[in-house]
Amino acid sequence: MSTKTSAAPFSFTAEQRGALDGWAKRYPTKVMGLIEALRQVQDWYGEVPLAADGPLAELFGVTRHHIREVVTFYPYFSHEKAGKYRVAVCRNLSCHLAGAGGVIERLEKALGVPEGRATSDGLFSWEAAECLGACDHAPAFAVNDELLGTATPAAVDAALSGCRSGKPPKAAPSIAPAAPKCGDKALLTRGFAEPKLHTLEVYRKFGGYNAWEKARKMAPADITAEVKKSNVRGLGGAGFPVGMKWETVPPKSVRNVPHALVVNADESEPGCFKDRVILERNPHALIEGVQIAARAVDADHCYVFMRGEYAAQKRVVEAAVAEAKAAGLLDRDVLVMQGANAYISGCDTALLETMEGKKAWPRQPPPFPTVVGLNGWPTVVNNVETLMMVAQVLAVGGDAFAAAGVPKSGGTRCFSISGHVERPGVYEFPLGTPFEDLLAAAGGVKGGRKIKAVIPGGTSTPVLTPEEAAGLKLDFDSLRGKGSFLGAGGVIVLDDTVDMVDVLFIIERFLWVESCGQCTPCREGSGWATRILDRMRKGLGAAEDPDNLVRIGENVTGKVICALGDTVGMVAMAMIKKYRADFEKRLGKR
Ligand code: SF4
Repeated sequence: MSTKTSAAPFSFTAEQRGALDGWAKRYPTKVMGLIEALRQVQDWYGEVPLAADGPLAELFGVTRHHIREVVTFYPYFSHEKAGKYRVAVCRNLSCHLAGAGGVIERLEKALGVPEGRATSDGLFSWEAAECLGACDHAPAFAVNDELLGTATPAAVDAALSGCRSGKPPKAAPSIAPAAPKCGDKALLTRGFAEPKLHTLEVYRKFGGYNAWEKARKMAPADITAEVKKSNVRGLGGAGFPVGMKWETVPPKSVRNVPHALVVNADESEPGCFKDRVILERNPHALIEGVQIAARAVDADHCYVFMRGEYAAQKRVVEAAVAEAKAAGLLDRDVLVMQGANAYISGCDTALLETMEGKKAWPRQPPPFPTVVGLNGWPTVVNNVETLMMVAQVLAVGGDAFAAAGVPKSGGTRCFSISGHVERPGVYEFPLGTPFEDLLAAAGGVKGGRKIKAVIPGGTSTPVLTPEEAAGLKLDFDSLRGKGSFLGAGGVIVLDDTVDMVDVLFIIERFLWVESCGQCTPCREGSGWATRILDRMRKGLGAAEDPDNLVRIGENVTGKVICALGDTVGMVAMAMIKKYRADFEKRLGKR
């Protein structure tokens, strides 16, 4: 194989090499440190220089082609120099509804460069991001993954001048509302009025780590039995019963390899931001849940995989891990890893690929991760909120937890609600709570307008009409009964001013941008749908376009590897079936 390269000779400084070595040594395999090492290279140079492929490949024990493949896959990395400060404004649904388009136009004008290009002084570049996980602050913006809240003109100008004066803004430890309003039966958010809940001292005042002390004395099988009794389900989207998932992990004696527990903190579904808020406010609940789950599944390695955009949340969790460790509370260490801003990394098997330093291509099960997961080891992947709830299960007991919810869906959960509501935010309610109660907690529909549609579980879930949403119980099975999903609990309310062609365009464009490209129906179908919807938005739709969108949907759903592809079809088919008049209004004279 040729090793020729046209790039100039390149070498890292001794200091840089030391830092990269640190990543290569941090994990059980060298390549597990690759994504974070590449993030560091990107930050040093504003790009990952082509000529750095060789030294990086040597350091991480992979080929140069592997390095290039990874660099070209993840949005955090670039081929050409980005600005020293990368300003991202979210353009996804809730941010679009709150005027993100105007913010992006203003930013482009202010910086005077097209998207992705650095300004002549090298200080800035900008991007219209697909989702920053902050719909409660819509339109949200960030600088170098520091989430800075709502992109008002004053806030954006202040951030730019801070960067110019060498003082780039950092996200505050919490940009969440000071005291989210919770349902009466709140478990996870009951201490949210306490500003220092994220510290060990305050967490312990709320009974923190008592559940872990209890679990430490229990046999692993008894912990799992308690979790099964509670009917707690996966709260990251899939809703799979947690105890049942844990039971599929084979005993160590079968293969005599390590076991891993991975926290999926790659929350990236537009409309969902509850993990961000609960991580900021209650990180010890996660660490407690991790210790309990790790004991139950006999995990040797525990990781929190954090989405790249959650820089402040990563700091909060790392500080909490250090505190718990110093207090002798950890039987197993917990390492926090950071992704490189690809939505698909949130799919459990794609997440494992990212952790293994590869592009995030979902795996086709079986085998499932609990049998063959990270590095081939049996691996449990659970969502942030799921593991926090595990700590609540052990605290109150499985039966009491189950009784707080509905049959087959125990306990409470945190809902994110955004879009056209008065007080977007995170609200904890028992599963089975009527939609109206959640809407009332969020202050009702903005300006007292009428609801046109409700997206119940993040933009990947089929839309509901106001009639379907009326009296709807928010739990996994009730939503399935309406042909949709509870997903990760990200409710988006759309008022009667909204045009569903725009909404579907935003969703399909997101799926197209974020598709990993592995399956042809998903990669091409999302692109076709986006292009058709784009021309419909411009009034240039053809008479057959609505039916073509349905046909594309039928040819994608069920014919792909992961749920992203299924979404391409399901969302479009539901939207056109329920709001066909909006689509027919956009037909032109083609
Ligand atoms: Fe990738 Fe789409 Fe296939 Fe999922 S369905 S594996 S995102 S191409």
